[in-house]
Amino acid sequence: MNNSKKKKFYPIAEPDIGPLERKYVLDAVRSGWVSSLGRYVIEFERRFAEFCETREAVSTCNGTAALHLALASLGIGPGDEVVVPALTFVASASAVVYTGARPVFADVDESTWCVSAETIARALSPRTRAIIVVHLFGQPADMDPILALGARRRIRVIEDAAEAHGALYRGRKVGGIGDVGVFSFYGNKIVTTGEGGMLVTGDRTLAERARFLRDHAMSPSRRYYHPEIGYNYRLTNLQAALGLAQLERVDEFIARRVEVMRWYREELRDRPDLILNPDLPWARSADWMVSMVFPKDFRPDEIAERLREKGVDSRPFFHPLHLLPSFASRRGKPPLSLPVAEELARRGLSLPSAGKLRRGDIAYICRSIREVVNSAAGQKARARTNQRRRARASV
Ligand SMILES: *Cc1c(COP(=O)(O)O)cnc(C)c1O
Repeated sequence: MNNSKKKKFYPIAEPDIGPLERKYVLDAVRSGWVSSLGRYVIEFERRFAEFCETREAVSTCNGTAALHLALASLGIGPGDEVVVPALTFVASASAVVYTGARPVFADVDESTWCVSAETIARALSPRTRAIIVVHLFGQPADMDPILALGARRRIRVIEDAAEAHGALYRGRKVGGIGDVGVFSFYGNKIVTTGEGGMLVTGDRTLAERARFLRDHAMSPSRRYYHPEIGYNYRLTNLQAALGLAQLERVDEFIARRVEVMRWYREELRDRPDLILNPDLPWARSADWMVSMVFPKDFRPDEIAERLREKGVDSRPFFHPLHLLPSFASRRGKPPLSLPVAEELARRGLSLPSAGKLRRGDIAYICRSIREVVNSAAGQKARARTNQRRRARASV
């Protein structure tokens, strides 16, 4: 074997930081405004509100803080319940616990991989105050029936759009559809500030409340007078400079991801057994993570290991939250079963999804997937034959 040639490695995600980002960040450094005051923070918030077609945007130090702030600003606390999808990043549920409220898990819908009005309805109780809808992997949830349910039952709708910057639901930007939306700018998200987040809303009073709580709950009219306990959840001007440059390029980022997703679909058109992300006529996904559900008897962890040998990175789906030990005491008896979330988590892997990937890269990645899946299928078939032979021999 010739190991001298360095093998190419295709990571799951890779930020795209270019000359514009360097220019703005350097400008912020030179200005001396390195903390959370500065013109980049103001401009980033203004432009992000514009981008989401919302009135207000409140920047935060990360997406989890934005979620916590959204819940806290809505007055959610001990004794309240908040419906959360079982299949999402843990932060969607931990933020609920921070407020003293209880997360109640809802299954996801097979057609969207997100919660639906039907799955949410099964998780409601008289204590339910809010629903956190997650647009998983960039795919919008079916919002209209959820909004109708929320209005009927007087329940607030929070959109966790951390993975879905710029995704469209019936022509509307996600994040700006519910009462309040939150975004993350972590390094692997569609827009990054390193660490960072944003809360968006059309409700001025709610935005004011969020700003107040974010800034140590300091009275706007009396310095160093704090009528409540607040938080320091601010974004810095340096991060906002990076974010502003990224935001100016966001259409390009989304277009590249949509193209990458399209290439995967084209390359694997003849493989209906390998299920790719939902693709619905009423939505435009932001295609954050190209994700694949393998046939029932495959083990994604084994597939991941073989793919890695070929230089193809992957990652498992989120562990169903209702099965994590931290939430186990909240499961009730008998243990809660949320079959769609559990099934997707058992069979899914996310694949290299960076916007920088080229057509040839996707062709190589899909060829590798075919090889790994076919050889695993061959092994399974041989194992079954051997088993039958042994069974026959033993009679
Ligand atoms: C990334 C993410 C978050 C948390 O964002 P951080 O900026 O990492 O705190 C919350 N919810 C979902 C669905 C995410 O993917």
